[in-house]
Amino acid sequence: MMFALDSILSIYSINFKKNFATYKNDTIYFNFEESTFSYKGKKFKMDYKMENNKTFLDGNSIALIIYKLTSNPIFWDYKNNEFFRAIETIKKFEFIEGNDSCILNFYFSKSLNEQVWFDENSLIIHIKDGFYPKYNYINSNSEVIDSIRIFHTKEGAFFKIFITTKYGSYKRIKEKNVLKFVIYSYGNFGYIIIDPGHGGEDPGAIGKWGIKEKDITLSVSKKIADILKKEYGFKVILTRNDDYFVSLKERAEIARKFNAKLFVSIHCNYSEVDNAEGPETYFLSTARTNEERAVETLENSVIKYEVEDNNLLKFIISDILQNAYLKESQKLAFFIHQKINKDRKDRGIKQAGFYVLRGVYSPSVLVELGFISNPKEAKLLSDEKYQDEISKKIAEGIKAYVDWYIRR
Ligand SMILES: [Zn+2]
Repeated sequence: MMFALDSILSIYSINFKKNFATYKNDTIYFNFEESTFSYKGKKFKMDYKMENNKTFLDGNSIALIIYKLTSNPIFWDYKNNEFFRAIETIKKFEFIEGNDSCILNFYFSKSLNEQVWFDENSLIIHIKDGFYPKYNYINSNSEVIDSIRIFHTKEGAFFKIFITTKYGSYKRIKEKNVLKFVIYSYGNFGYIIIDPGHGGEDPGAIGKWGIKEKDITLSVSKKIADILKKEYGFKVILTRNDDYFVSLKERAEIARKFNAKLFVSIHCNYSEVDNAEGPETYFLSTARTNEERAVETLENSVIKYEVEDNNLLKFIISDILQNAYLKESQKLAFFIHQKINKDRKDRGIKQAGFYVLRGVYSPSVLVELGFISNPKEAKLLSDEKYQDEISKKIAEGIKAYVDWYIRR
């Protein structure tokens, strides 16, 4: 709802002159091109329209102007479309921007209760009986919050936090009359390791028309890493970013070095049976079926390229450590697999004892994108467009897992 500025401000003895409004010795300046007004060097957003040479402003901005100039705590009830007066109960609101997280601090003059919910791309914090006349809009340069808008009804204040696609989760801390929210981005989750299978002297499986597994895994892994970083703001490390050999041991070491929160190994499958098709997602465990054992043997065969450690005890110990992540790994496999099995033959989620996953102390899975021994799938997996598509799905699966994990 819009009001003619001159008439409404005159009620409060404020003089309005085209581009500014004065009260005693104070002045507010309007910038209609920018849709802002400024007071004591600070800028505020407003909605306005011009009609018959008169300036009309939205109720929320008018309430703020009256408060700034006259210290009269006037609020605009955006649901009932009316002005009302209330005692300022939110004494201070702090917004602290950070890289991986932002902090919102509310200081109350008495004990107040809050409610929190999501509305499309915003997180709404409703402070019951909370009244805050100082701002109606706060801009943000952080990765996780776009801006904050503040609305009121007679019931209290609504802080509408516009979040970005990089929003991860929030934490609420309440102490006496101070309410604190920490808004985390996905970057705060920690490192996700994407592991392109094979590389260098180890081509992996050789498929139809000489297609090499190592090339497809590298291309898809880079795409996954890109989406995770750019779209969601995750921290991502690739175990290799070019065509060179990295031992399984080194891959696990990279994961440990970055204190990996997730490890996703990307591979392509091979079968003597020409028409074998469909993606599979594995998590570490003991292989149960002959088929699972066959894939396990295939992927573990890279060991012959490496100096055999033969430290069985080490494997057994890391196996036990991996067990601690078994449930999470299974969950991660589930979230990824339900994205990638669409429009493809579903071969399901499987378990096997891959060496590469053994030295990794985080939830970890191995994705077989499909069979490069099958002409249909070899063509599909070497197609740039399909690579984009499956990378997006894997990234979405990883994000879905993280959402489940951090918002539990
Ligand atoms: Zn492989």
